Amino acid sequence: MSDQNEVVEGYLQIVATVREYVEEQIQLGFTELLEPEEKSEFSEFDVERLRHEAMGCERCELHQGRNTVVFGIGDEDADLMFVGEAPGADEDLQGIPFVGRAGQLLTKIIEAMELTRDDVYIANVIKCRPPGNRNPKPIEIETCEPFLLRQIELIKPQVICALGTFAAQTLLRTKQSISSLRGRFHDYHGCKLMATYHPAYLLRNPHGKRDVWEDMQKVMAELKT
Ligand code: SF4
Repeated sequence: MSDQNEVVEGYLQIVATVREYVEEQIQLGFTELLEPEEKSEFSEFDVERLRHEAMGCERCELHQGRNTVVFGIGDEDADLMFVGEAPGADEDLQGIPFVGRAGQLLTKIIEAMELTRDDVYIANVIKCRPPGNRNPKPIEIETCEPFLLRQIELIKPQVICALGTFAAQTLLRTKQSISSLRGRFHDYHGCKLMATYHPAYLLRNPHGKRDVWEDMQKVMAELKT
């Protein structure tokens, strides 16, 4: 192949990659492409102001059915941050993420890492419970994600652990399966992101616990660096 043909071939591959990415974004329902360095609309907010803003937020229709906003909980200087999908019924009543059966399993996982819930930060992509636990709509994700982005900017975790398909696919802007995303680190706005199975999935599929523990061992090793 001539040099010119190689340049053209390389150019066409880049175009195909960009096109695939844009098509994935459109399939996911996003109307804007987020740049990694893009500032959230809350870029000047500290944690308390951000929490106050979230607690009164009516930016999307999910505010209509919620009991309370589930902002996030834990050490605001944590090295490790867990991010799930959205509050369920228990979380919506208590205002605390991961407090149901899946939450109890997450607590056990954290303790197996020789940490406590107070040592880490736990939040969701979406702060208000979707009715009937339906999947959040793309417009709800797009509207709510700036809260999470600012939380991450403020907490500056060394590692983010995305729990489950929805959180991993949303944060990484991909349609890839959780089984193909887990087990390795990805870049998320300058943080290392490990995707793994959601604790609710483990309650139904205990055989996945071994994979999750392998992922958590990688996280523990990264936290020691
Ligand atoms: S889900 Fe997020 S954007 Fe929607 S009302 Fe709740 S806090 Fe606001």
